[in-house]
Amino acid sequence: MRYSALKVFTQGLTGNKGWRPVWRNPDPKPEYDIVIIGGGGHGLSTAYYLAKKHGLKNIAVLEKGYIGGGNVGRNTTIVRANYFLPGNSEFYSHSMKLWEGLSQDLNFNVMLSQRGVISLFHSDGQRDAFVRRGNAMINQGDDAVLLDRDGLQKMLPYLDYDNGRFPIYGGLLHPRGATARHDGVAWGYARGADQRGVDLIQNCEVTGIDIVGGKVTGVQTTRGAIRAKKVGIVVAGRSGQVAEMAGMRLPIESHVLQAFVSEGLKPAIDHVISFGMGHFYISQSDKGGLVFGGDLDFYASYAQRGNLPRKEQVMEAAMTLMPMIGKAKVLRSWGGIMDMTPDGSPIIDKTGTDGLFIDCGWCYGGFKAVPGSGDAFAHLIATGQPHETARGFRLDRFRTGQGIMDEEGTGSQHNLH
Ligand SMILES: Cc1cc2nc3c(=O)[nH]c(=O)nc-3n(C[C@H](O)[C@H](O)[C@H](O)COP(=O)(O)OP(=O)(O)OC[C@H]3O[C@@H](n4cnc5c(N)ncnc54)[C@H](O)[C@@H]3O)c2cc1C
Repeated sequence: MRYSALKVFTQGLTGNKGWRPVWRNPDPKPEYDIVIIGGGGHGLSTAYYLAKKHGLKNIAVLEKGYIGGGNVGRNTTIVRANYFLPGNSEFYSHSMKLWEGLSQDLNFNVMLSQRGVISLFHSDGQRDAFVRRGNAMINQGDDAVLLDRDGLQKMLPYLDYDNGRFPIYGGLLHPRGATARHDGVAWGYARGADQRGVDLIQNCEVTGIDIVGGKVTGVQTTRGAIRAKKVGIVVAGRSGQVAEMAGMRLPIESHVLQAFVSEGLKPAIDHVISFGMGHFYISQSDKGGLVFGGDLDFYASYAQRGNLPRKEQVMEAAMTLMPMIGKAKVLRSWGGIMDMTPDGSPIIDKTGTDGLFIDCGWCYGGFKAVPGSGDAFAHLIATGQPHETARGFRLDRFRTGQGIMDEEGTGSQHNLH
């Protein structure tokens, strides 16, 4: 069923009885050409592009919970292409272009709202770093505008510009930066993949990976064994555990990241704003809630909830930047599991096992990468060659030390990526 204004109108006239489930709920078949482990944003987009761009049919996505229950439905929905280093910048630029056509491509409204992302700077040194970043973005073909203090104050009058510790000097505006409806992205890709014949199998946890003579032959699951010619691991915070099933030890630590939403307020914050002197970022959702977050919780964990000291630290950062936020009530908070790499950049690569591929290490920036990662991972699985925008995301860079993409130059200190 294609969605359109006419469809909504005619369904409205006929009692809305013609809507169909958005995807099927099939039982697993004994064998597929390709099995994708993980029904998050990256797994679903991979399956979608495998079917759409490469014309492949016999594909299953195995999800241990329900579609959208992982990080894809838990993030603060910021989409941006403001990366600095070659390797990262062309990838996120490509992903942003896919975002810009995504609702039309999927025939599903992902509610992309290009309201602009503003990164604040608070010292001369930080301004210089942001000027370099802005120039790199423009050279890559993306957009960046340097705002001085007066220009910024006209746009964001409610910030505390003269805070004694963290005075605001200006900001780098990325006008095409956006937010999107996170569940909508998962549902849109799920529907698009299902329409092209992909089996989306929920409540199906992979418990083992079968390897014979150095070649993958299938997976063991809570719904039985499934044979497969190729297997892709795309399980975000669970990457270390699932890779271990194939005898791999990944350069990944899993950490909790929390998000917060306030009560619904009248429109107050028009952009996405990120504080330059601490990890704090905020936007306002279409429903009026202020959506914000901060740093990792800083201990390795698989819990999807966070601790109180980090909540306090995020609230303090919010009050420092915009004291008016103190009047808003926080309604909800939750956590997600982040797959942190030592250089803060992701991995999309083959593994040492023939037919086994891995896509992981998105740290806390993988929502914006959902279209680009799916496109690149599908290309790798289908052709055996890396996608032109993802050549640098190699697994062996952590062993050889060559090709490390440390965007912030902070080494393996995860909170600074
Ligand atoms: C609080 C928070 C805020 C964030 N904010 C942003 C942001 O503003 N912008 C941004 O770009 N990124 C952000 N991120 C990061 C982003 O959400 C993640 O990097 C991205 O969603 C990870 O990829 P995914 O969607 O495929 O992960 P997931 O949705 O977690 O998908 C992985 C799936 O694998 C499944 N799985 C795990 N093990 C198995 C198994 N054994 N068998 C079968 N299935 C399995 C899981 O159930 C899960 O559904 C944020 C994350 C969090 C938690």
